[in-house]
Amino acid sequence: MSTRSGPVGVFGGTFDPVHNGHLRSALELVELLQLDHLRLMPCAQPPHGKTPAVAAGHRAAMVELAVRDEPRLSCDARELGRSGASYTVDSLLELRGELGESASLCLVMGGDAVAHLDSWNRWEQLGELAHIVVLARPGWQLPESGVVADWLRQHAVPDAAELGLRPAGAVLVERLRQLPISSTEIRQMLAAGRSPRYLLPAPVLDYIQDNQLYL
Ligand code: ATP
Repeated sequence: MSTRSGPVGVFGGTFDPVHNGHLRSALELVELLQLDHLRLMPCAQPPHGKTPAVAAGHRAAMVELAVRDEPRLSCDARELGRSGASYTVDSLLELRGELGESASLCLVMGGDAVAHLDSWNRWEQLGELAHIVVLARPGWQLPESGVVADWLRQHAVPDAAELGLRPAGAVLVERLRQLPISSTEIRQMLAAGRSPRYLLPAPVLDYIQDNQLYL
């Protein structure tokens, strides 16, 4: 018998490095959606061409350090164990196998990502395997026309309560606090010899310095 108390969330990203923008969003989502827990899932090899600045092992280690004191967040490093491009759909298939058919599973993605959803591998299968939770960002809106727009409209639900009622297939847009932090800016600060302290957890910055990353 399952002891889970709510849907399970999975939040994919490059996390190069993980920062307080990611972490604050993750925690707010756990509370807003009443998730049992949320897994931050670093992508080993992004399918869309952008090569990460540091190896996947380092990025996962930093996520581990970032979440170690928050039991509702975890690092899911499953994509590091697969070769080739990291397809989210493969991770959801694995997770579905582990959690069972009836568990509610929520895939979290940024508004920037959802606009290009139809370029994702087997994109329509994502909604069969999980709910899609889209993080709205300022100056951003859902695509208004095209296949993705039609698909999002078809599956849209008005509030988070719907997510616990079925295992997959709903689309929910959530507006969270916006911390204007990006991994790109942190990498630039480090490369320029400036300190990104307080933009990311202290143990993550210590790890970056100990391993001389992003120089
Ligand atoms: P980069 O600057 O290297 O592109 P990033 O900071 O956008 O990186 P990613 O690892 O690419 O981080 O993002 C993972 C997910 O986190 C994406 O869905 C993205 O939309 C979201 N995200 C990134 N920064 C923030 C932030 N400051 N607040 C909330 N969500 C964020």
